[in-house]
Amino acid sequence: MSKNPWDRSPLEVLRAGPEFDLASFDPSSTPGWSDDKDDGTERMAEQGARLADLQEMLFAEGRSGGTRSVLLVLQGMDTAGKGGIVRHVVGMVDPQGVDHASFGKPTKEELAHHYLWRIRKALPAPGRLGVFDRSHYEDVLVVRVENLVPPDVWGGRYDEINDFEAELVASGTSVVKVALMVSPDEQRARLRERLERPDKHWKYNPADLDVRAKWPAYREAYQAVLDRTSTEIAPWYVVPADRKWYARMAVTELLVDAFERLGLRWPLADFDVDAEMARLDAS
Ligand code: ATP
Repeated sequence: MSKNPWDRSPLEVLRAGPEFDLASFDPSSTPGWSDDKDDGTERMAEQGARLADLQEMLFAEGRSGGTRSVLLVLQGMDTAGKGGIVRHVVGMVDPQGVDHASFGKPTKEELAHHYLWRIRKALPAPGRLGVFDRSHYEDVLVVRVENLVPPDVWGGRYDEINDFEAELVASGTSVVKVALMVSPDEQRARLRERLERPDKHWKYNPADLDVRAKWPAYREAYQAVLDRTSTEIAPWYVVPADRKWYARMAVTELLVDAFERLGLRWPLADFDVDAEMARLDAS
């Protein structure tokens, strides 16, 4: 498969524009893709190889004094597949070039600081692909749904997050924001599997069912995130996640695009190649 098999660009079909409505979104759909799973897997392998090359170029640029980086922000309800994206998509590139961070319940120390404190500390170094498994968006998702701070506090965070991301982009970090959307039925099936299989018990958390019971409130909170923080410089891509192969392939494409837009080149040698070759031959 060498020609582009997408019917429509994933960037276009997955991007959350001003009219985006989660209530009518189908998590089992495969927007822009009419081929089957096998074709999707093949495309992902091809684009994965491309991604690995591009990431190595960014790493090389970082080693040569470059300051740019790419940050993948992953959000989604439990079982949406954030871990699978990390393992199967990010796992296709050299781990030396990846800065991974996951954000759980803030520690006492983190709570004593501004909510962006722990986020800033985890930003990717120059030349790296950063991955946030959950992110600052928890501070307008779980925090909003669970009333962890008053509405006027979380209400001010959307603009603050937009400013923060604008600052990030201006300093050379490309931000790729992915919201993985799983359906309630598929989540039930995935939770059931975690209960049925002893090798998956470690992934099961009884509290996940309490979160699941608040699905409508989370949907509202996600809709607000998409309405208020899908900006020109850091748009949201909403990825249907009931079919894991589609979600992984789509995120691979989004990353390849982000890297391609950097116009990466291999750094030029800062030594005389011919002279070094002569020295080597003489050695
Ligand atoms: P995951 O569900 O992401 O696979 P996990 O179940 O192993 O991870 P952790 O990563 O330890 O759990 O923590 C995730 C939990 O932390 C989620 O319930 C999330 O809502 C919560 N959390 C993350 N950020 C915040 C925050 N800023 N305030 C409160 N809770 C948060």
